[in-house]
Amino acid sequence: MPPRTPSTPAQKAELAFKAMHRAILEQALVPGTRLPEDQLCSQFGVSRTLVRAVLGRLAAQGLVDTGNKRTATVAQPSLEEARAVFEVRRGLEAQAVALVIERWQPAMGAVLEGHVREEELAAREGRVPVSARLAGEFHTTIAQLTGNPLLQRYLSEVVTRCSLVLAVYGRPHQADCACTEHHALIEALRSRDAVRAASLMAEHMDNIERRALLPQVAAGDGDLASVLSRYAGAVASTTAGVPLKVRVPAAARRRAAG
Ligand SMILES: [Zn+2]
Repeated sequence: MPPRTPSTPAQKAELAFKAMHRAILEQALVPGTRLPEDQLCSQFGVSRTLVRAVLGRLAAQGLVDTGNKRTATVAQPSLEEARAVFEVRRGLEAQAVALVIERWQPAMGAVLEGHVREEELAAREGRVPVSARLAGEFHTTIAQLTGNPLLQRYLSEVVTRCSLVLAVYGRPHQADCACTEHHALIEALRSRDAVRAASLMAEHMDNIERRALLPQVAAGDGDLASVLSRYAGAVASTTAGVPLKVRVPAAARRRAAG
């Protein structure tokens, strides 16, 4: 499919946001990378005002540090911040699996399995950064299935922050174990075994946090302009990684609330 060229300033800004978001999560732009506004303006063909709004959105998710510096940079979370993120994530993930089990519908299993298949394909093809990003998105998909927009928003943010923590401190992503653990989680959700799902999720969080113990220097794979044009093209031509819209019927929500 040929890339759709964004035409309005708002579409261009959205493309800029998605391209940068994905480039940071896939570690093509490593923590500390400078993001000069004028370069972003010319790269995406948007005004300085829109570029600042995009940087502000990325900063709100903990991906970009705008601080008091003249030039924004890709954020570099401290170890203390990293631990704080994991503490919050554990609580939200536990709540998410509990709610999904309450509101379970068979179609949800297919959504989650489809996602893990994408993870596995990326891993088989050696696309490690992509499989790492998809592994994080497995969790935001679970959050979407709760039908609770606030939980979805908060969990997406901590998952994004965790991905950055793993980029700064983590060992290389181990897709095999992530996929195995994701399959086990799906089975527990499908059998609506809340105790097992909670313990599997807690264990999974332990493993992710353990991977974030060893410091390493991540390597980027190109200069800002070439990385951004590559990601802008990828975002424009695919919808992979764009959050799935999963509709949970109101009836299911009412049942669960009752
Ligand atoms: Zn996972």
